[in-house]
Amino acid sequence: MPEDRLLEARHLARHYGGREAVSDVNLHVNRGEVLGLLGLNGAGKTTTLRMLCGTLAPSAGEIRLCGIDLLESPIMAKRQLGYLPEIPPLYPDTRVREYLHYAATLRRVPRRDRRVAVDAALEATGLADVAHRLIRNLSKGYQQRVGIAQAVVHSPALVVLDEPTAGLDPQQVQDIRKLIQRLQRDRAVIFSSHILGEVQALCDRVVILHQGRQVYAGAPQGGESRVTRSFSLRFRSSPPLEV
Ligand code: ATP
Repeated sequence: MPEDRLLEARHLARHYGGREAVSDVNLHVNRGEVLGLLGLNGAGKTTTLRMLCGTLAPSAGEIRLCGIDLLESPIMAKRQLGYLPEIPPLYPDTRVREYLHYAATLRRVPRRDRRVAVDAALEATGLADVAHRLIRNLSKGYQQRVGIAQAVVHSPALVVLDEPTAGLDPQQVQDIRKLIQRLQRDRAVIFSSHILGEVQALCDRVVILHQGRQVYAGAPQGGESRVTRSFSLRFRSSPPLEV
């Protein structure tokens, strides 16, 4: 495995009962990279991300994170990983700083380091000025930042974000995209989206899922975009994507 390889997943599959949700997904991400997971609703993005994060057991396949076998040593591997689920587990009546302190405790940040870790997460996500506010009183965009802050509070090497811009207004979307670019500087990011233009703008590489199958993996754009071709080929009968 190359030295800068942070995560590698091979032949990942997940069945629900007899139904195949994800089949034979192969992907990797290197330090300093952003990998986009692109697909329409039901394509298998959340299922894939949950397997990468160790919150859902694959039916088949292997995952190595920082050289550690995620399925054999999940606790060790998960220390290197931060996850923003599609619906972040926020506590509305909690203050931002208090919530992040709780997240740092859950992520096993040593007690003596927690304050510094929370300050760093607040700073990294642009939340320092609202640290004392109740989460319920923040805009949706700021609540999403809190979700991202809880994912980075233990300084993971890899951050996995499930549709981080979904449901946000255009300004909030821009803010979260800038935040993803900032996060990339000293770690790797994987995020899912159904917006082709978003992954083209932010990602070094993209994996496209369609009905649980990987239909493309590679550069997000080129002279004539292979992504676009892949979409028009595979998504001919699907509604057009927002770009
Ligand atoms: P969305 O963009 O709507 O979140 P997605 O690309 O994240 O979609 P998944 O949520 O991974 O897609 O779902 C992939 C497929 O697996 C879908 O057909 C979905 O109905 C099915 N699925 C997901 N979770 C379960 C479950 N717990 N039990 C049964 N089927 C499931």
